[in-house]
This record gives sequence, C-alpha cells and structure tokens, in this order.
Amino acid sequence: MIVKVAIDLALDRLFDYEVPETLREKLAVGQLLSVPFGHRTVRGFAMGVRDGGESGEAAPAKLKRVEAIVDETPFFSASLLDLAGRVAKYTSSPIESVLRAAVPAAVVRKGARAKESLFVEPVVGGGEAPTERLRWLHEQVVRLGGGWLAGLCAELKTTPSSLRRLESLGLVTICARARRRDPLAAKRVLPTSPLPLNAGQAAALRAIAGGGGEAGEGADKRPLLLFGVTGSGKTEVYLQAIAAELQAGRGAIVMVPEIALTPQTVQRFASRFGNKVAVLHSALSDGERYDEWHRIRSGEARVVVGPRSAVWAPVRSLGLIVVDEEHETSYKQDETPRYNARDVAVLRGAIEGARVVLGSATPSLESWLNAKRGKYAVAAMPSRAGAGTTPTVHLVDMTAEAGSEGRGGAIFSKELLDAIALRLSRHEQTILFLNRRGYSRQMTCERCGHVFECPECSTPDRGMPYTYHRADSCLRCHVCGGWTELPRKCPTCGSTRLAYRGIGTQRAEAALKTCFPEATILRMDADSTSRKNSHDDILSSFRRGEADVLVGTQMIAKGLDFPNVTLVGVLNADSSLNMPDFRAAERTFQLIAQVSGRAGRAELPGEVFVQTHDPENSVLRFAARADYEKFAESELRERMEGGFPPFCRLSVATFKSKDLRLVGGWATMYAESLRRYAEKMKREGGPGRALLVSEAMPSAVEKADGWFRWQIVLRAPSNSSIAAAWRWIVAMRPPPRELRAALDADAVNLV
Ligand code: ADP
Ligand code: ZN
Ligand code: ZN
Repeated sequence: MIVKVAIDLALDRLFDYEVPETLREKLAVGQLLSVPFGHRTVRGFAMGVRDGGESGEAAPAKLKRVEAIVDETPFFSASLLDLAGRVAKYTSSPIESVLRAAVPAAVVRKGARAKESLFVEPVVGGGEAPTERLRWLHEQVVRLGGGWLAGLCAELKTTPSSLRRLESLGLVTICARARRRDPLAAKRVLPTSPLPLNAGQAAALRAIAGGGGEAGEGADKRPLLLFGVTGSGKTEVYLQAIAAELQAGRGAIVMVPEIALTPQTVQRFASRFGNKVAVLHSALSDGERYDEWHRIRSGEARVVVGPRSAVWAPVRSLGLIVVDEEHETSYKQDETPRYNARDVAVLRGAIEGARVVLGSATPSLESWLNAKRGKYAVAAMPSRAGAGTTPTVHLVDMTAEAGSEGRGGAIFSKELLDAIALRLSRHEQTILFLNRRGYSRQMTCERCGHVFECPECSTPDRGMPYTYHRADSCLRCHVCGGWTELPRKCPTCGSTRLAYRGIGTQRAEAALKTCFPEATILRMDADSTSRKNSHDDILSSFRRGEADVLVGTQMIAKGLDFPNVTLVGVLNADSSLNMPDFRAAERTFQLIAQVSGRAGRAELPGEVFVQTHDPENSVLRFAARADYEKFAESELRERMEGGFPPFCRLSVATFKSKDLRLVGGWATMYAESLRRYAEKMKREGGPGRALLVSEAMPSAVEKADGWFRWQIVLRAPSNSSIAAAWRWIVAMRPPPRELRAALDADAVNLV
C-alpha cells in the first residue's frame, strides 16, 4: 500500500510513501502522518492511497515508510480535500499551501496538544470526613460538583494539601483532565432569544430555507444574496437561520471580515448559541486556536464564527455558510494561496450541499451580476429593522472652502465644523473618517522642495514619501513600515524650514483639538491599535460615551453600532475616488454607504458630510442618495464597455525581485510571450483565444521594502484560460531563483 503525502515545504508536489503492515488498517485519507524526509521527520497529510509497495508488483525500489499516524481522526473530510484541490487549481497554487491555509498551524505543529489541569471530583457515597473542617470542605466540593484544583483552592480558601487529604480518604478523586482554553471565558455572555421578525426578515429567512419552508425537494439551492441595508437586521436573520440548522442536526459557518470580528459581533452569536459556538480569529492564542479547532472537528461546536480561514472549518454535516459583508476585500488572501473565501464558500456549499448566504448592503458587482443573471437568488431588506432612519448625506464642495483658511484650515469645511459644534452642544457623538493615518502625508523642504522619502520603497515615477508621525516624532514609511528620526534640516540645501503637506488622522485630531478645546477626541488607526485589545478598548470607551469624537481610518467604517452617533464626516472622498484601480468607484460607493450606516442607528436621526473637490461626481451622487441599484447599473455599463470584471476574469501576474533588471526583463519577456501565445490561440481557436495581455509595467508601488515589483494584467472570459496560459509560460520559461513570479487570480487589488 502506498500513500501520497502533501508535505508543507512548498515543493508543489506530493510524495509517495510505503505504508507499513501495522498501519494499513488504520490509515485513511485526510489524516496527519509523520514521515521521514531527508534526515528529518516531518508532518504531512495523506492525500490518497493506492495498492503497491512491498507486496505489489508496481513497488518502486526504495520508497521510505510512513513512521506514524499522528492523529487517527482525519483533519480533512473527502469533500474538504476535494475543495482544497479545486482551490489549488483555480489559484495556480501548490496544494500544500492550500492545506496550510486551511488548518491552523497550532493544530499541525509538533508538540501541540490539549492543555491538562488537575480536576477534583467528589466520589459518590464516599462516606464521612474525620474532622469538621474536612467535612465542610467535602460538602463544598460536592455542592459545587467538583472543579479545577486551582479554582477550588481560590474559591474555598483552602490548600491543595487539604484536597489531597480528601483524596487519600477516598472522598474525592484528583486527576489530570483536558481543559479548554476558552476565548470567551473572561466575557460574561447573557443569553438572548430570537426577536420577532419583520416582514422583510421573515421573507429572507424563508428564502434561506429554499423558498418553500421545508428545505426538501424542489427547494432553491442557489446561493442567496441577502441585499439588506445597514441595520436592516441581517444578523438576526443569520441567527435564526442557524438556529434552524442546529434544530435539524446540522452545523453552520459564519464568516465576517477580520476587522468586524469584534467581541461585540462574537457575543451576538455566543449569547444565542452558548458553547455551541467556536471562534477562530487572529487574536487567539495558539492554545485557544488548538482547542477551538478540535471542538469543531469533534462536533462539540456546531457554529463557527471567523474570518476567511473559517471557510475551511471541519464542521460536520454543514447546512449553512454565511458570508457577511461579502463585498469585503479582506476575504481575498493576499499571499499564496490567493483564494477569495467568498468564492470558496460558494464552491464548498455546492460540494457539501450547504446553503450559502452572501450578505451586504453594497454587494460586489460580481455577486450583483450573478444575481441579475439568476445564478444567485436574492432577498432584499431595504429598510432598517430597529429604531433609526437613513441619514441625510451632504456633499460639501471643498474647492469653495479652500480660500477660507479659517478655524480648521483646509481640513474641515465650515458646514462640518458647525455640525460638530451642534453635536457637542447636544452631547451626541461624531465619527470622522480619513483614509490616511499619521500626521501629514509628507514632509518637504520649503526652500528647495526636497521630499523626505523611504530609501527602500518607491512608485514608478517617484519616491515613496515618508509620513510624519507626530505622536512618536518620527517619519514612517507606510509601505515597508520603516522609520527614521525626525530631521532637523534639509539634507539637500540645509534649510531648517520643513513643512508638512497633506492630512493624516493625527493631524485631523490635532486640528480638531484646536477648534474644540473642550471636546474629548479618540483616534483609531493602525498606529493607535497596535497593542493587543486596544482596538476593543477604544471602541468600548467611545460606546460608553467617554469621547465626543472618534477620528479614524477605514477601521471605523465597518459593522459598528453606536446608538449615540448622529454625525459622520468623510474628510477626503477624492483620495478614494482617484485610486488607479478599475474598482475605485465601487470602493468609494461602499465606503460612503458604510460610514453612513454608522450615523443615526438609534432614536436620533443621522447626518453625513462628504467633503470633495468634485461634488458633481456621479458616484458620489449615487452614494449620497444611497441608491445602490442605480449605481450598479451605471457602473456595470462602464465595466462592460471597458471590458472589465464582472464581464471577464482579471488576474494579475506579479514579479518580485531585489534586482530591478531581472524583474523588468522577465516581466517584459513574459508579457511578449503571453501575447504571442494569445495570438496563436486566436488563430487556432484554442482555450485562450480571448486572452488579453497588458504591457509589463511597474506596480503602483514599484519598490517595497527593497523589493522591486512589476506586473502584467491578464483578462479572459474564464479563469481557466488565464491559468492555462500561466502554466504554459512557467513551464516553458521557469523563473530563476532570484525572481518570484506568481499569478493573482481574480485580483482585488491593482495598486
Ligand atoms: P445588520 O446586520 O443588517 O446591520 P443588525 O442585525 O445589526 O443589522 O440589526 C440592527 C438593529 O436592529 C440591531 O440593534 C438589532 O437588535 C435590531 N433588530 C434586528 N431585527 C429586529 C427585529 N425584528 N425587531 C426589532 N429590532 C430588530
Ligand atoms: Zn532643501
Ligand atoms: Zn518603505
């Protein structure tokens, strides 16, 4: 018997091993094995078995033998292995990279195991203790039904030796037990019960069940796009759909963008389903992650809440996968394997017969077109469920404001300042949104114009300016994270007249303090949240009303519910609109819709100010009216005319090297070869006949952290013809060691 093993060494191939007699009965596909590799022992997953080996004829001469089965319960079901294989193929990535993404490293690592602690358990009918003190202690242990040794000592103000005394009297047993490291242990979770649904929610719930109520024959099995405005009560619908799955003995996965995976979100699920919920996210300790994963695999936890990696959770008899905020780009992994968890969810649903629900107030145009074409079913929830109305959105023309270098300078318009003042007087809260952290965008010499730039990074036509960070008085590069001390003079001309250009969150915060000295201001961006939990601390503090204004980057734009916020300001909408990416309009619309969703969630009506130099811009106008459907119609027309997704597939071939000549040379050569390939296919009518190949060009950030980066944009009606062209070129001209070439299938980020 021979087993094919995927070893996590990024070698993009499987290795054959002989299965020794003793393991043949137990060995199964999907198990974690330990096998010899070179002079070491490594771990790998069993991908498939076939006859042969020692006794069979096809025995290749000297196959090494499997050393052990690490865990007899398979890590992957057959259908998850199938899914992983398809994702590897789709994303042109090695299968082992997909498997690595699918199981937490803490679970596979050597030495990882369940944590054990000493547990004290009363013995039934154990008799009576000799002293009064011990009798009391015994009674307490019985009353509590036993407990962890350390916990009992603390609670009963006793010592381990007293409990050991009870043990020697045969009144209790003390032994090691697996102890769950529970990420929710410190949180007090109050149970909630289902809310009575409004008509829109009830219709959505019926649609999730497949239209007919009973999810039996004839039920609609298509993925469902739940198109519901912010606050329409999508989460309550998810909760009740999950409850129905649990009732039917099935499990569910809920995916939320990492940034929205706040304790608040997790608690909504935990308070409904208690310890049936497992949470997976990046802030967990390895121990917690290990335990949560095993609780899912054993079937103890039936509901999984997590970011994109949760799509791989080994939930048994999976009935439902929810992808909340399905348009979020964080579902796309930006390293190998570059899968989009939303698309993997749809695929997994099809393989395992689970219903897939994609929820969003601003669906991606990909999903919207799928719905228009009938590939997806749709349920719409156009109005808010709880209290609150849709906020009024004002577009503020900053060109008209430019002259008035008044109170807030060019940062705040007069209208916005007046609106903030009004909120302060009414003790309501304000959120201000700005797409750039730091103090100012760049630092320049006023005399010679020298711009302080990171030596390790650049864009194609110029250097990458450092951002000034006033809080820790240094200059930081937002591409590589490098920093340098604050300069005192210009290195070119020696002048000490250094100026700040552009606005970052720190500067907005400072300017606001000048305008409103009495206001309490919190700032939330990657700099203020680098400490563990600081993200939650800032948000809870703001929720408790400890600050009047929250200034922040896109971190604050998502999924948060603050009842007392009645004003939202988008300080610079143009920076998002002008991104060199065909999705810039879509992103801007989503951003404004999302930040608007933060205003007026409770009884108080909300107002939104969007500052721009282009108030006639149609995207901003659609966004101001919150008219997604009109926006989508107009944007889809542009995409169709331009030949962009969702009317084709677009992937980006990326080239990275420390050597500029190598990266430019190879990208150019690949682009030329691919173009000739496409022409040949066109003549011969092959699978790549409609492949469009761009020029090779430097990426928007050409040099990042010392690495030069170039790219080629590939478009075709199907992903498979792009992937085929890529396989062809990589096989024909394998890139040298010093160059990294990869294909980013369905790229979401072109800059
Ligand atoms: P979404 O997920 O669509 O943004 P939420 O589920 O967060 O919306 O709901 C917004 C608010 O409306 C929450 O405070 C929630 O408790 C409330 N809510 C949801 N459904 C109902 C309902 N059927 N009746 C009353 N309030 C509801
Ligand atoms: Zn100078
Ligand atoms: Zn840099």
